[in-house]
Amino acid sequence: MKISDPKRPERKRVEHAKYALKTKLSLHIAFVALLTVAVVAVLSHILINHHFGNYIARQQQRRTEEILTNVSRQYDAATESWNLEYLHAIGMYALYDGYIVRAYDLRGEMLWDAEVCDMNACTQMMGDISRKMRGYPHTEGSFTTKSFLLQREGREIGTVRISWFAPYFFSENDFLFLDALNTALVGSGVFSLALAVAAGFFLARRLSDPLRKTVDVTKRMSGGDYAVRLSEGSNIRELDELTLSVNHLARSIGAQESLRKQLTADVAHELRTPLTIVGTHIEAMMEGLWKPTRERLSSCYEEIERIGRLVFDMEKLAKVESENLKLDRTQVSLRELAEKTLRNFETEMSARGLRASVEGDCSEVSADRDRISQVLVNLVSNAVKYTQPGGTIRLALSETDETVRLDVEDDGIGISEEDLPFVFERFYRADKSRNRTTGGSGIGLAVVQSIVATHGGAVTVQSSPGEGSRFRVELPKRDAPQERAGCF
Ligand code: ADP
Repeated sequence: MKISDPKRPERKRVEHAKYALKTKLSLHIAFVALLTVAVVAVLSHILINHHFGNYIARQQQRRTEEILTNVSRQYDAATESWNLEYLHAIGMYALYDGYIVRAYDLRGEMLWDAEVCDMNACTQMMGDISRKMRGYPHTEGSFTTKSFLLQREGREIGTVRISWFAPYFFSENDFLFLDALNTALVGSGVFSLALAVAAGFFLARRLSDPLRKTVDVTKRMSGGDYAVRLSEGSNIRELDELTLSVNHLARSIGAQESLRKQLTADVAHELRTPLTIVGTHIEAMMEGLWKPTRERLSSCYEEIERIGRLVFDMEKLAKVESENLKLDRTQVSLRELAEKTLRNFETEMSARGLRASVEGDCSEVSADRDRISQVLVNLVSNAVKYTQPGGTIRLALSETDETVRLDVEDDGIGISEEDLPFVFERFYRADKSRNRTTGGSGIGLAVVQSIVATHGGAVTVQSSPGEGSRFRVELPKRDAPQERAGCF
């Protein structure tokens, strides 16, 4: 049998995602670093070659001029003779520098020729330079020869022919310098690439680790573990915010989940007693143990009515829960609402001989009229329910700079100290046996707290058994952000 899994398509998509965040980030950073290093290397290589080539060409121009000056100095005008020994020295020196020098006198007779003097050295030098220069990128040149007229004190004294690798060539030292430069460039490129990859990997890990932990936590949450929490402190604001949100989500889902369980348990508990009573009564009557007398049937009917009221209250609670977020705010006069509420309870109060009054006043507040009216009805109905005949109910209005205040006071039975902290909880009834007769299901005050909290206000209670109770509702004068009551 094939079990359908609604998460399957998403899971498949996730499985098909080829790269983990860490790998993808590292690859991207490495690629960008590689590109940057390559661009920097190529640009600097081109720039250095260009400028260095120009510099070398200028140097070689100066060197040829120096050779010419040195050669012309070897002419003695007085004797019209040449110092051939020095010419030889100059020529050999130039040959080792990469220049083949030939000197001729005015008549065109050869004074000194490097090739004649040392053919082997010349051929080897030319071969070396040509080989090295052709092996070097971006340099296209060849050995060229230029003739220069030699002059001394304005007089022509001969000619010199110089051959060298034009437009320029690199000496042994130049090659060493260029090699060192290239090594430095490649080295720094490799170093920065390695650094970028390491930094990228580190950054990717810092990003992906918290994300992976978040995924683990959300997976555990989807498996029903809401106690799980993420620890903060990544130093990255967005990640810390994500952590906070996930923790908040876990907390609120956990709270919702336990409320849901609590609600189910509460409802089951509340239904069990009336259902057992009705069940046993009817069973006894069916088996003929009891006669279906009017009293017994009406006792069953009362229990069924109780179940009906409970269901009605739960519906009310569900309505308040689902609609609480949407408040239809208008300017509401609490005094007017208080008077109206008392008027609605007039018949019931006079039947029980209760006296009621509205005292004081306060400014109008921006609130949802129907919901605040519900608050008043619940509080006044409790005051009526839990005050003995002849008692007094007082509704007092007042205000502070920030809030308006409504007190619902009675001199009824009061609430014991142990019960007081729980009266706002759903289904909580202070005195269960007595409350069975009053018919309350313990939802009224929970509804009050929810509505007041949604308005951004608070409800508190003070009470002493036998003396009476005072419920105080405080609402902010300015609209407060809507909040859910803690009890839901
Ligand atoms: P119920 O429907 O039982 O009245 P509520 O939520 O309105 O439920 O009240 C919870 C419990 O708080 C009541 O069962 C009652 O014991 C106690 N209580 C509420 N209001 C008063 C009051 N004015 N005087 C005494 N007890 C009160």
